[in-house]
Amino acid sequence: MQRLRNPFSCRLCWRITLVVFGLILAVESVILIPSAARFRDTELERLAHAAHITVEPVLLLGRGLASRGILTRDLAPLVSMYGIESIAVYQRGGQLVTTVGAAPPPGFPGTSHELSRRVRQVARAADSTRLEVAWHSDAQGSPVIAARIDSSKVLHDLVAYLWRIGGLVALIVLVVTVGTMLVLHRWVLRPLLQLRDSALAAGVEPGRANEFILTTTRRDEVGELIAAHNAMLERVADSKRRDHEVAEERARFLTRHDPLTRLPNRAALIEHVDGLARLRIDASCRISLLLIELTQFSVLHGSFGPQRCDDLLGQISARLRRAGPSEFVAHFGGERFAMVNDTLRCDATGVSRLAEAVLREAGGIYDLGGGHTVSLVLRVGIARSEGVALDGRTLLNQAELALAGTTESDGAHYLFYSAGLAEAARERQSLARDLKHAVESGDLFPVFQPKMALTADGGAVIAGAEVLLRWNHATRGMVPPDVFIALAESTGLIVPIGAQVLRAAAQAVRGMLDRYGWAPPLAVNLSAQQFADTALVLHIKQVLAQAQIPAHLLELEITETAAMKDAARTATTLEALRAIGIRVAIDDFGTGYSSLSYLRRFAVDAIKIDKSFVDDIGADANAEAVCDAILRLGKSLNTKIVAEGVENSLQLEFLRARRCDEVQGYFFSKPLPLAAFEKDWVAVRAVA
Ligand code: C2E
Ligand code: CA
Ligand code: CA
Repeated sequence: MQRLRNPFSCRLCWRITLVVFGLILAVESVILIPSAARFRDTELERLAHAAHITVEPVLLLGRGLASRGILTRDLAPLVSMYGIESIAVYQRGGQLVTTVGAAPPPGFPGTSHELSRRVRQVARAADSTRLEVAWHSDAQGSPVIAARIDSSKVLHDLVAYLWRIGGLVALIVLVVTVGTMLVLHRWVLRPLLQLRDSALAAGVEPGRANEFILTTTRRDEVGELIAAHNAMLERVADSKRRDHEVAEERARFLTRHDPLTRLPNRAALIEHVDGLARLRIDASCRISLLLIELTQFSVLHGSFGPQRCDDLLGQISARLRRAGPSEFVAHFGGERFAMVNDTLRCDATGVSRLAEAVLREAGGIYDLGGGHTVSLVLRVGIARSEGVALDGRTLLNQAELALAGTTESDGAHYLFYSAGLAEAARERQSLARDLKHAVESGDLFPVFQPKMALTADGGAVIAGAEVLLRWNHATRGMVPPDVFIALAESTGLIVPIGAQVLRAAAQAVRGMLDRYGWAPPLAVNLSAQQFADTALVLHIKQVLAQAQIPAHLLELEITETAAMKDAARTATTLEALRAIGIRVAIDDFGTGYSSLSYLRRFAVDAIKIDKSFVDDIGADANAEAVCDAILRLGKSLNTKIVAEGVENSLQLEFLRARRCDEVQGYFFSKPLPLAAFEKDWVAVRAVA
């Protein structure tokens, strides 16, 4: 609570006090002015009366006015007594009988005529310092007496009187004002200031408003005001407390739930499992955690935008609930869901059934609206704690390892955690360390596989080559690119690796141009991460400039999946690459999303039919139909089609018959180290 301020610094106090002061002053003035006038009149009257009673006996004793000399003699001592300056005696009719003291001014006394008609009356006329009085004793011919009296003393007395009374008034005003101020301060202003300070303090900290309530025993209006104010503070504090509780509840909810699906999040999942584990400390413990991943979620996000994907997540959670109505379902990291089962009956077979139900219910076709449908592929990693209660974090880690295992075990969409998986994970970590070292020490090297253009005369000529990376591990020997490229992608090493391959390709072109006067265009595979890099175009320009090679001798291959991750960005990047003369092919076509509308929009230079379809030419009508369809598509889009993995003449003739533009495969050549590739494919043509 703030300390109360000094009342003299209170503006309201001053205002009230000044008004009170003014009012008292006005009232006192109203009283004082007539009382001063009365005082003056009384004093003058007293003076006139004194002159009258002094002169009158002389006249009476003077036996009439027979002797003017006697009269003058008797009256002379009176002049200067009582401040009488002069006395004049007139006969009735106005003739001057005698004067004593100073000569009377002309017309003195001005009231003589009036006096003649009235008996024993004192008439008075005064200026500021003199008083003139005239009277006559009786009606029977007595003379009219006029006297001029010095009245300046009256003025002095009046001033003194005014000072006295004024001082008194000032004292009263002061006492009343200070008294008023103190009383006002005590009864009105102090509570008012307290109310103000309390309201201000409560305004600053509404959550603690109830701490600023005022205590009072008063039963008057101020007491009622304070009571009302206190009640309001209580309500404010109460409402703030409720707001706070709601906000806290909301924050608690948000930290424990996914904002989109409103399902529990990762932290809540761990907490839930921990709770179950604490309850099941005996052999009866059976907790299964199913970690469910949507494999193409990032691609869908890129193709359909966040809004549709958010709707999709909502639909998936609903279907997961159908698959496991009594299970705990969580959602986190965008593309991951988890399901926890803790029923005793649920043994490994039961959990398998649950995983199958999840794959069946939540996988498959979804309607995204606007005529769009997608087919979702799910993968499930399962961890179980049976007999021994495992904590949530451990169980989730195991489920993650199992999930990672599903990528490698083709076809199996759910996998139980096993110690072997942990071993595999450790193995991957060790390989990742080796790969990092290989990148730094330059143990990775490129090989080159020719791409052949099929000619109308049934022949084939080299049209380019694909650059493929190799890793000769010191102890493990050759590590397949499928393994180390995936590892590089998951560890981020793909960025420096990709840059190395680009530079190596550009240098190879430069070397061939220098040595043979020509070079086939070299196609470099770009990973999704490299393609998403905003500095890609700039980087390629630098590579071209450094090696001093023309842009058409460097090509890029991106997979459908990489292209679809962010369709809008892909379109812009492709435009920018095209602008500098770099050609781009879509790799592994047919295995991913294969969106025709996007193919049109992307303006790519070539489409590569995935090896898996070419493999089955002559063996599977379906694969042949796919190849046929892609070749037709190429013709309609006016885009070059390249078939890869051509190993035999049957495949070659199938493709040639359907006017496939280029082929690549062991039928012509395996990927070769640079020297061998130059010798077999570049030097020959240079010679020819
Ligand atoms: P990809 O881009 O589809 O490359 C074609 C793969 O098919 C290569 O496998 C190639 O050796 C293989 N191949 C070509 N013709 C035949 C054939 O007639 N028969 C058989 N059985 N195989 C054939 P490779 O070199 O093992 O590469 C595998 C994948 O690794 C590549 O698939 C590519 O996705 C990735 N990769 C390789 N090098 C790089 C690279 O420098 N950067 C990136 N980002 N990925 C790379
Ligand atoms: Ca490729
Ligand atoms: Ca391919």
